[in-house]
Amino acid sequence: MQYRKDIKSGNDLSVLGFGCMRFPRTLGSIDMKKTEQLIQSAVEGGVNYFDTAYIYPGSEEALGTILDKNGLREKVYIATKMPIILTKGPDDFDKYFNKQLERLRTGYIDYYLMHMLTDTASWERLHAWGIEDWIAGKKKSGLIRQAGFSFHGSQGEFLKLVDVYDWDFCQIQYNYSDENYQAGVKGLKKAAEKMPVMIMEPLLGGKLTVDLPRQAAEIWKKADAEVTPAARGLNWIWDQKEAVVVLSGMGEKNQLEENIRLADKAAPGMLNEEDRELYCRVREIMNRSFKIHCAGCNYCMPCPQKVNIPGCFAAYNTSFSLGWIQGMQQYATSTGITSVEPSGPSRCVKCGKCEAHCPQHIPIIQSLKMVRSRMEPLPVRCGLAIFRRFL
Ligand code: SF4
Ligand code: SF4
Repeated sequence: MQYRKDIKSGNDLSVLGFGCMRFPRTLGSIDMKKTEQLIQSAVEGGVNYFDTAYIYPGSEEALGTILDKNGLREKVYIATKMPIILTKGPDDFDKYFNKQLERLRTGYIDYYLMHMLTDTASWERLHAWGIEDWIAGKKKSGLIRQAGFSFHGSQGEFLKLVDVYDWDFCQIQYNYSDENYQAGVKGLKKAAEKMPVMIMEPLLGGKLTVDLPRQAAEIWKKADAEVTPAARGLNWIWDQKEAVVVLSGMGEKNQLEENIRLADKAAPGMLNEEDRELYCRVREIMNRSFKIHCAGCNYCMPCPQKVNIPGCFAAYNTSFSLGWIQGMQQYATSTGITSVEPSGPSRCVKCGKCEAHCPQHIPIIQSLKMVRSRMEPLPVRCGLAIFRRFL
């Protein structure tokens, strides 16, 4: 495992961090046995940074329970996040923070983030509620070691946010397909002058691996079939010295093992000009193929009408990257289109609840309309209407 220095605290952080948003699940609940094995193997492999959040269902409890049970708390750094989307006033800071300490079974948080700041206005609201004094108090009493923010917004807003407070670190979405999206490379470089930058969505929720468009997958295969799409995604980030920790949600042991092997060799400047040329070609294909920029994070869920929002968007994108038939197969599975109660776009009542939560700022209602017209054209709707008569 390679480690990079956190210039603010002096901590040596593993270049591979464990993203705890997508712990493996069985029948909707976190599979504790499998998760425990993954966390133990990650720590044995040198991973020392674990990133969770108040709003990741069951994640803080699972992480805290497993670290405590295995005596691993002091071997790792825990990063978790204040759910600013839920905070209604200054009293909520302590309410959520104390709950997080309890869930994580710990007396302090190593890396504490304001979750999903989108612009300076979202920071100003917290500022007016006294967040700076609150953080200072928590740091003084040792309950928070490093204070930072995670970001989903425009590059202009990110560049301003970097300067509004003396942050200890920040976390941005960054991958080879999103080089100029949100904070982008410009934001990464500017922030890295002042603080360590942690990277989330390095593989864009699987879109740079399992959901890679066919043409893009062929480019990688032709260049070197031994280098997997996951390796391409992670190496692109590790090549840049400004990225300190790259967070990956690893739900399978083989995935974890591969990432640890790759992290052993992670080094700034590891790519050459030929590699960079390939990334440009793949990026062009990705930009053409992915029509809706959904990262599959599930922040918009559950929808009160049970629309499977990320499932609809994934199938829609697949219908461009791998072809309509394959997209339709995926759509049929993820929306249960032939069942009595399908969870497709037609159920949407435009309440708007989902849009407020989407870190990618996707106009979900409008996008669901697009999905419906592509995935359920008139002949499909007629066929379904006839089919349902026999259900
Ligand atoms: S706007 Fe539609 S998709 Fe979004 S939460 Fe409301 S019903 Fe669900
Ligand atoms: S629509 Fe937005 S919130 Fe929902 S899964 Fe996609 S990126 Fe996440």
